[in-house]
Amino acid sequence: MGQGLSCGASQENGLFSAVQVGDFQTVEVFLKTEPHLLHHTTVYDRHSALHIAAANGKIEILSMLLEKSMNPDALNRHKQTPLMLAAMHGKISCVKKLIEAGANILKFDSLHGRTCLHYAAYYGHSDCLQAILSAAQSSPVAVSWGYARFVNIRDARGATPLHLAARQRRPECVHILLDNGALVCASTGGYGCPGSTPLHLAARGGSLDCIRKLLAWGADRLQRDASGRIPYVVALKHKHGDCAALLNPSSAEPLVWPAPLKFISELNEEAKSLLEQALMEANRERERNILKGTAFSLPSPSPSPSRSDSGLDSISETSDTEVCCICFEQICTIEVQDCGHQMCAQCTLALCCHNKPNPTTASLTPPVCPFCRSTIVQLVVAKIKSYDDADHDITDVSSPKLRKLRKSRNFSEGSSSFKSLSAVGSFSKMGGRGSGRVAAENESIDKP
Ligand SMILES: [Zn+2]
Ligand SMILES: [Zn+2]
Repeated sequence: MGQGLSCGASQENGLFSAVQVGDFQTVEVFLKTEPHLLHHTTVYDRHSALHIAAANGKIEILSMLLEKSMNPDALNRHKQTPLMLAAMHGKISCVKKLIEAGANILKFDSLHGRTCLHYAAYYGHSDCLQAILSAAQSSPVAVSWGYARFVNIRDARGATPLHLAARQRRPECVHILLDNGALVCASTGGYGCPGSTPLHLAARGGSLDCIRKLLAWGADRLQRDASGRIPYVVALKHKHGDCAALLNPSSAEPLVWPAPLKFISELNEEAKSLLEQALMEANRERERNILKGTAFSLPSPSPSPSRSDSGLDSISETSDTEVCCICFEQICTIEVQDCGHQMCAQCTLALCCHNKPNPTTASLTPPVCPFCRSTIVQLVVAKIKSYDDADHDITDVSSPKLRKLRKSRNFSEGSSSFKSLSAVGSFSKMGGRGSGRVAAENESIDKP
C-alpha cells in the first residue's frame, strides 16, 4: 500500500500481529475504531489480514473478517489467495471456511502459476486436498472446466498436482489424486527434468510408498522422459536403491488396480477400500521378494495395521465368517452379484487383475464368477452369515471355544498345502480340483 504514514503503519502492524497470534478481541477493537484497516496490507508481501489469518489457521478471526465482507480472493504480492496459504500450511478449517465463503479455487499465483490444489498436493495436506476436490465437484468449476481437467490442472511448467505430490513424497495425496482421475502417465513440460512422469518424479524423490501407488495405478516403468531416461535410471542416479529395485523393468510386474472394469468403477466405498488394501498387500509381498537379500529388504512379515483392521488376515478374530474356498487362507469379504458367491478380497483382485498388467492398453474382457461362471454384475462387501443360518445351538458369539471349533472346521475342508499358495497363483493351481474347481481364465475352460 502506498500510504507510508508512520501512525497508520503502526496501527496496521498492531492489527496484523493481533491476527497472527489470534487475539480476537484486539482485532475486533481495531476493526471497530479503524474499519479502513480492513483494506490495508503488509508492506512487502502485501498480505491482507485475511492472508495472515488463513496462513496461521486463526479460524475465528478469519470468519469475522469474511463476515465483514472482506474479499475472500484478496491477492498478495505473488497473487496468492488466502485459500492458497491455508492449503500450504494445512489449515483445514480455514480452507473449508474460505470455500464456503465462495473463494475461487481456480486462481493461479504469479510465482509458478499454481492453484490451491497444487499447494495442497505439494505440501502434502491430504485433508485440504480432499476438501478442494469436493468443492470442485459441486462448483461452477466442474461445469465450466470439467472435473477431470481440474484434477489434472497444470502449473506454469506443466506440473499437475500429481507430479508435485510424487516429487515431494506425499503418498496420501498421490492416492487421493489417482482416485479422483489424475492421469498417471502425464508428462511435465519443464518441471523437474522435461518430460518427467509422476513415476520419474517419485523415483527422484525416493518414496517407495509413492512408487507403489503409482505402479498399482498402472504407471509405465518403460516410459521415457525427454532425455530418454526411464524412472529406474532416475532412481539409480539419485541412489534410491530400493526404489530402483521396484522400478527395474526386469523385476516382477505389480498388480494393477483394474480401474477401467465397469463393476470396479462402480464399487461402493467399503468394498473398494477392501480391494485396494488387498492389492497393496499383494504388491508389498511382491516387493519383499524383489528386495529380499538386498540391502533394502523389508521387514517380513510386514506388521501392517490396516491388514488386521480390514479383516483380511484375521481369521482367528472373526469367528462368524467363512473361509474363502479358493485360497483357504483368507475370510470371504467380497460377494459377487448376481450369483451371490463369496470369496476373499485378494482372490477377487487376482481374478480381476490376472493377465492384465496394463489395463490402459489391454483389451478388457470382464472376468466371470470363478464358481458358476456367470457374468460379474457387481461386487459388494459380503454380508456376514448370521448365526441362525450356521449354528443353531450356539449363541455366544465371542466364545473362544466356538472360534476354535469353527476355525478347525473351516480348515478341515482344505488340505494344508493350499495354505501356502498365494492368492494370485492359486487360480491356475486350483484348476481341476473336484469341489473347489475354479475357472479363472475363461478360455481355458470348456463350455458346459
Ligand atoms: Zn481367497
Ligand atoms: Zn457365482
